[in-house]
Amino acid sequence: MTKIGKPKFNFTWFYIVAGGILMSILLFGEDGKNQLKEIRYSDLREYIAKGYIEEITVNENGEAEAYLKKDSAGYVFPKEILDEKSRQIVITTIGSTDNFDEYIFEMKQPDENGKVKFDGSLTYKKENGFFSNFLWSVGPFLIIIIFWIFIMRRMSGGGGGAGGGVFNVGKSQAKLFDKNNTPTITFKDVAGQEGAKQEVKEIVDFLKNPRIYTELGGKIPKGALLVGPPGTGKTLLAKAVAGEANVPFFSMSGSDFVEMFVGVGASRVRDLFRQAKEKAPCIVFIDEIDAVGRARGKNPSMGGNDERESTLNQLLTEMDGFGTNSGIIVIAATNRADILDKALLRAGRFDRQIHVDLPDLNERKAIFGVHMRPLKLDPSVDVDLLSRQTPGFSGADIANVCNESALIAARKHKRAIDKQDFLDAIDRIIGGLEKKTKVLTQKEKEAIAIHEAGHATISWFLEHANPLIKVTIVPRGRALGAAWYMPEERQITTKEQMLDEMCATLGGRAAEETFIGHISTGAMNDLERVTKQAYAMVAYAGMSDKLSNLCYYNNQEYSFNRPYSEKTAEAIDGEVHKMITEQYERAKAILREHKEGHAELAKILIEKEVIFAEDVEKIFGKRPWASRSEEIFDSNGSSETQTDAAPQESPAEAEEE
Ligand code: ADP
Ligand code: ZN
Repeated sequence: MTKIGKPKFNFTWFYIVAGGILMSILLFGEDGKNQLKEIRYSDLREYIAKGYIEEITVNENGEAEAYLKKDSAGYVFPKEILDEKSRQIVITTIGSTDNFDEYIFEMKQPDENGKVKFDGSLTYKKENGFFSNFLWSVGPFLIIIIFWIFIMRRMSGGGGGAGGGVFNVGKSQAKLFDKNNTPTITFKDVAGQEGAKQEVKEIVDFLKNPRIYTELGGKIPKGALLVGPPGTGKTLLAKAVAGEANVPFFSMSGSDFVEMFVGVGASRVRDLFRQAKEKAPCIVFIDEIDAVGRARGKNPSMGGNDERESTLNQLLTEMDGFGTNSGIIVIAATNRADILDKALLRAGRFDRQIHVDLPDLNERKAIFGVHMRPLKLDPSVDVDLLSRQTPGFSGADIANVCNESALIAARKHKRAIDKQDFLDAIDRIIGGLEKKTKVLTQKEKEAIAIHEAGHATISWFLEHANPLIKVTIVPRGRALGAAWYMPEERQITTKEQMLDEMCATLGGRAAEETFIGHISTGAMNDLERVTKQAYAMVAYAGMSDKLSNLCYYNNQEYSFNRPYSEKTAEAIDGEVHKMITEQYERAKAILREHKEGHAELAKILIEKEVIFAEDVEKIFGKRPWASRSEEIFDSNGSSETQTDAAPQESPAEAEEE
């Protein structure tokens, strides 16, 4: 994609010069040797009556130019400025030409002495000449056409280059990387992300040995969707797939498809796949797929975005169009899988979703390892420390830290990059990053650790709470921290189970209040869940004392009438409040009882960022009800996540792991 640096003829100058010439012809077209004076209409009549005027021309707008007789010019123009060689003209505007005609007629009649005051000609000019007229009729169109050409050149990408211009709008602008023009990227360049790597390795296999799969009648996937926050290495992974399979790699961003003109996006999609088919087997990578793949028709009031929809439809058509063994695999990346059109996620399209998350401590260490390889390091550099100092950093941020540290060291004329350079680089990245990604301060990290340890402690000591698997304080997506539980598969739930769960969910806030001394918005997601659950228990399941055995469930979706009285509503509110308060107090009591254990848990969490059930067991001892949880652990591999969403965002309920 290099541009050839040939000198190019710049059209802008041509336009400016041509415009200038036209303007001067318009303005100074007539011979420039006239002396003009603007006068009043009454003056003109007077001059005519006095016989100063030789001839008069009047144009369409009633503007009159009256040529003074040579010998009379001196009466009108002061002697000092009078130029013998030029003609003197007075100009004025005539109100009514009829009146003026009459007046001239009068002046042409000989008076009593037989003298005629005005014997010259009076001409009404219809046009100011052919040329300017022509310009006025054609000029505007000319300007519009020039403007249009200008816009088109702009749109088709920075002047178009050779053979560019208007006709290239519908061409895809995909970048092609193949072994000739880029160093290959392999899985070695992607640190951490083991899960994601495992999944994309399969794709490499498909590309390398398609026969193995097709001979058994299997269908090779057409697409995979990489989902994760920016900078976590989605592009890198896709490139690594291409590198490992040794196939060409087409890269394009979803926003490149979206243009002002209707039909452009669709034709770019068509062109992209045409190119890809020529190079198959290959990988087509579409970054930011949400730019085209957003769910259709979600917002009827906006009238939809027809251009984006037709682009999306074209993409779907293309993906359906090529056979499963054509050797094209489309990998798309997004950080919002939830807003994508369902049609994109259907079988035969992007049916595989691969999650690429922010790296945890060990992964960050590995990423530092990758990016430190080319650097000259001082022995003082401590990778462990750096990884611990960078919670919430993405792979791209870490790459950035490594690069920045080299620049800082170079600025100080050092021979190798030392620890302090790295720490300075981290500070700089955090300073510049604050708004971009979630980077936690030490204080926030502590608060989140205390909160999550609260959940963990309480769920450990409640018989019916779901068994804990792991707790993390690595921000993932919208959540700042998370606790994973193994949910029990049950068809009916007892009141005790629900209350225990409620108590564990409230444990985060209870820990904040008990051990930090003030509460925060970090528990909002917890509270929302607890409140909903309590209402369901009281109003639908009849589980409260005052309203026992009553179900006010209303299955009509849009009903404005509650099936209970105002008084009952108050009672429900009261019972819900009572229930939540009781569980909250219970949570606080458990935490006070196991204060030391909780503190230790929080401490380990800050250090390691992730703790597992074993770590908790070391602190609190075996759970008396552990046997049951192990049983479940063996029988099913799924788990449930409980997250604490950041306050400003809509809470994510449960995430599948
Ligand atoms: P995304 O596509 O997810 O926004 P990229 O793949 O463009 O992120 O990553 C940007 C850069 O960050 C990469 O070029 C690489 O240098 C670095 N990077 C990100 N993740 C990793 C990783 N897991 N291992 C090594 N480098 C990484
Ligand atoms: Zn919580």
